[in-house]
Amino acid sequence: MGRPERSGPGALDAVVAKRLERWEADGLRRHPRAVRSSHVLCGNDYLGLARHPEVVAASVRAVQEDGAGAQASRLVSGTLPRHVAVESALSDWLGVERCLVFSSGYAANTGLLSALLAPGDRVLSDALNHASLIDGLRLARAERVVVPHGDLDAFARALATPAEGGGETYVVTESVFSMDGDVAPLAELVALCRASGAHLIVDEAHAMGVFGPAGRGAVAAAGLDAEVAVRVGTFGKAFGGGGAFVGCSAVVGTWLENRARSYVYSTGLAPALLGAVEGALPLIQAGGLQAQLWERIEAMASALRAEGWWSGPGRSAVFPIVIGAPASALAVSAALAAEGFFVQAIRPPTVPVGTSRLRVTVSASYDTSLAPRFAAALSAACASVGVPPPYPR
Ligand code: PMP
Repeated sequence: MGRPERSGPGALDAVVAKRLERWEADGLRRHPRAVRSSHVLCGNDYLGLARHPEVVAASVRAVQEDGAGAQASRLVSGTLPRHVAVESALSDWLGVERCLVFSSGYAANTGLLSALLAPGDRVLSDALNHASLIDGLRLARAERVVVPHGDLDAFARALATPAEGGGETYVVTESVFSMDGDVAPLAELVALCRASGAHLIVDEAHAMGVFGPAGRGAVAAAGLDAEVAVRVGTFGKAFGGGGAFVGCSAVVGTWLENRARSYVYSTGLAPALLGAVEGALPLIQAGGLQAQLWERIEAMASALRAEGWWSGPGRSAVFPIVIGAPASALAVSAALAAEGFFVQAIRPPTVPVGTSRLRVTVSASYDTSLAPRFAAALSAACASVGVPPPYPR
């Protein structure tokens, strides 16, 4: 047991600085800079609700009525009448027995999965699932099987055998994948789960507000509401605020409010964010902004197609423009920023190695002339840094 060569307050900095050097050399260093570009095309405010006057007013009203914070965790004294009202409104909207509000989508997914899955259970997880789902599965003491993205044969093969530990089997997927914007084969997954007795859990972070009747998500759009055991929605995307919720049966809800550690041991969602949900939900249900978003999505698909960056129609509000190397993606992003378009470069480990990209997103709030101007700027930016378009023109 030798003494460490270095000690004292600078020792940790030396260790971490070395790690950062390597991270930077790999082109992976991130900078959380304040965004100043005139056009931000990588956020998740799909319906433009973050600055919608009715959402802002409802949020302000909630703060004035209930104060800045919930003051305690939900099971102590942090359940305000507003939490109960919001959870009940969400349940009515989604047509589920219970909705439980969490402080973020990350907290919802880690809390949900670690509480629901038990030793002896097995979970099949799509390879492109979000980090919060992956971390929830890491916390859960169940057998994990990572299934190649959207590979129904691989799901079917894995479902053909029961869990080694003799427990339940779960399938966990996003409905709209956050970095690729494609939609999971939900009907086929439902059929496979039905045939094998597995339970389906769907993260609808990028689908609620965007898909389905009254914006209820991709599961609802496919008419599969009754077939999915648990759905997760987030308030930080189409709702324009922050926080998240889990929609489930009454009995699963009761289990989660007792055992989901990110719910039990964390301060209740702040009134400002509950108020934002109260303001956003009627606007989402009304459907006008959703229709406007889909017009903008089609406009973006058509503009990117015209420049050779896209084929087919828009699949969701997310358009992955895969560049390849991290340095190239950074260079394109910087060239676009110089033209007033902010699109963050998304690099590993957020996306697989070799697929660094610009994750272009669309919002109902975009000006109608934005898509063609952006697509032309993208081509110019790529040409200026020597990145060719991936599709033939
Ligand atoms: N699930 C998915 C699919 C996501 O994309 C995200 C956020 N990017 C989350 C969960 C986490 O949500 P939040 O930002 O509210 O923590």
